[in-house]
Amino acid sequence: MGLSEMSPVCPDVLQMDLEDIVEKIQKFQRITPREALYLFTHSDLISLGSLANQRRFALHPELRVTYVVDRNINYTNICVSKCRFCAFYRPAGHPEGYVLSKDVLAKKIQETIDLGGTQILLILLQGGIHPDLDLDFYIDMLEFIRDRFAIHVHRQALPPFPEEGRKSSAMISAVRFLRGNAMHPNGLK
Ligand code: SF4
Repeated sequence: MGLSEMSPVCPDVLQMDLEDIVEKIQKFQRITPREALYLFTHSDLISLGSLANQRRFALHPELRVTYVVDRNINYTNICVSKCRFCAFYRPAGHPEGYVLSKDVLAKKIQETIDLGGTQILLILLQGGIHPDLDLDFYIDMLEFIRDRFAIHVHRQALPPFPEEGRKSSAMISAVRFLRGNAMHPNGLK
C-alpha cells in the first residue's frame, strides 16, 4: 500500500501536479512538505533518485564522494522482540546469549580507531532489546566511551526499553542527561 492510500490527512495532496513539483526542484526552489509527500508517493524510484542527484550536484558540483569509517558494535544479542526474520538474536538464558563486557567493548572501539575509524553510530552500536538492560546501562556505556575514546558516536536513538527493563526511576532526568552532559563533550550528538 502506498503512502497516498494510507494518508487521508491531506486530501489536497492528491490534486498536486507532479510536473510543477519537478519544475520547482529543477529551478532549485524549495518544495513544501506536502509536495515532498506527493512526490514521494507518486514518483517512481528512478525519477526520485534522478531528482535527488540533481539537487546533490547543485549543492556539491565537485565529483568527489567522501565517507567515514565506522563500526557496528553489537553490545548484546539477547532480545525479547523475536522478529521472525532475525537470525541474530538469542532469547534470555540461551547459552549463546551475551552482553559485551567493557573490556571487549573497549577492544572493539580501539580496533576501529586503529583501522582509521572515526565514528560509532549509536544506531550501529546496537543490539537486541535485552529485558534486563535499563537506561542506566546505556548511560554508563556512553560515559565509558566518552571518557576513554576520541571517537564520534552518532546517536540516532536508544533502543526501546521493554517493560521489565524500565528499572530507572529517573527516566526523565536521565534522558535530559543524555541530551546534555553525557553526549556533548566528546562529540556525541
Ligand atoms: S535483534 Fe533486532 S531484529 Fe533481531 S529480534 Fe531483536 S529487535 Fe528484532
